[in-house]
Amino acid sequence: MKIRTRLTILFTFITATILLVFASIILISARENREKEFYALLKKEAITKANLFFNAKVNSKTLQNIYRNNRETLNEVEVAIYTTSFHLLYHDAVDIDVVKETRPMIDEIAKKSEIQFYLNDWQVIGIKYKFQEKEYIVTAAAYDGFGYIKLNNLLKTCIIVFIISILLLYMIGRFFSKKAFEPIVKMTDKAKTISATNLDLRLYTNESKDEISELATTFNKMLNRLENSFDSQKQFVSNISHELRTPLSAIIAELELSTHKERNNDEYKVVILNTLQDAKKLAKLSNSLLDFAKANYDPSEIAFKQVRIDEILLDARQQVQKSNPSYNIAIHFESDFEDDYQISINGNEYLLNVAFINLFENGCKFSETKQSKVIVSLEKEKIILQFIDNGIGILEEDLKHIFKPFYRGLNKIYADGNGIGLSLTQKIILLHKGTISVTSDKKSGTIFTVELYHGIKNAID
Ligand code: ADP
Repeated sequence: MKIRTRLTILFTFITATILLVFASIILISARENREKEFYALLKKEAITKANLFFNAKVNSKTLQNIYRNNRETLNEVEVAIYTTSFHLLYHDAVDIDVVKETRPMIDEIAKKSEIQFYLNDWQVIGIKYKFQEKEYIVTAAAYDGFGYIKLNNLLKTCIIVFIISILLLYMIGRFFSKKAFEPIVKMTDKAKTISATNLDLRLYTNESKDEISELATTFNKMLNRLENSFDSQKQFVSNISHELRTPLSAIIAELELSTHKERNNDEYKVVILNTLQDAKKLAKLSNSLLDFAKANYDPSEIAFKQVRIDEILLDARQQVQKSNPSYNIAIHFESDFEDDYQISINGNEYLLNVAFINLFENGCKFSETKQSKVIVSLEKEKIILQFIDNGIGILEEDLKHIFKPFYRGLNKIYADGNGIGLSLTQKIILLHKGTISVTSDKKSGTIFTVELYHGIKNAID
């Protein structure tokens, strides 16, 4: 069932219940009032007839005639007068005699002074009446025809008004809920048209700060984020295929060329060396991509433990120099450390090693001397690592882009690469809740500053 229908039914049901309670209270109070008023009327009639009988000395025949005449048109009250010893003094109509008075009834009236009760639909009242110091018992009974007709009319009116109100309420409820849900229906229709091919579409938002407009704005913001990440995914995939295609095309071309005619051993050697170089590039790219994927894992899936930064730096230096014997890397400690804690952080050894290798390699490959240096400063809360080279530097306009995946600066002609290294390094440092920044100068070279904190218990905290 749609929320709109559910709300309309709920609204109608609640209002109907309130109306029902309201009408019931009115009907009950009208019923009680009728009963009270009629007993009061009976009492008045009983006293009047007794006054006529005792004080005015109107004779019984006349009183009975009045009763019989009035009875034709009105619901005349039937009155009887008894002595306290159950002796009948007067009766409006002995032949009709609705209230069959008995001795116990007379005694009860004498005892209580007044009683009221129903006899079928007739209301009966019995009272004590005093005349010349003597007590008499007067009973009066009548059927409140007008009162019941009035009550029935009120009931009918209530039922009709109730039914009409329910119908009206349902229609009004439907109308307003339709109006209230119109923007949501529009949003749903629009959202149905948004797919991967037209992620640029946005939901309509108005100026008002209502909940629906807020929902549309939030949804649009989510679409912005989705569009951005979708675009960068597309960009990433096309960059990867481009990076893969270049060495692959080179390998294919090289091998095809070598098969065109018979060649000597030296020529084959050159072909093999060239293809080996391209294959290494491919292997490096695939390793970088693998590391990139690892750094993008859910942080809770990456193992963190206390690791010594000096050991990781030494390890990284060894690996870089092993694969590039011409590279020269120096590690310099600004101050001595007294305990392990000062040189340790909570981190992932493998990923930090990858980050340091990238920074060492970049420093060496972008400088003529193939030299790179890291200065380690130990502070109370953090370890500061400055990766310094006296190389060609990074152009001002490249500085803000170098951490983007696959971005290579204008100086890329100087050295081979795939543009993943720095973005991967930044991801790793951020994963460790650290910071990385860069300053560069054409003359003096480049400094990458990495700050890693001791206090980080777990990078995902
Ligand atoms: P790659 O080194 O494979 O090109 P990176 O992501 O490691 O990719 O670096 C991105 C770009 O940043 C490089 O292409 C280069 O332009 C610039 N860069 C990085 N480190 C240095 C450095 N030490 N000296 C000069 N330029 C650098």
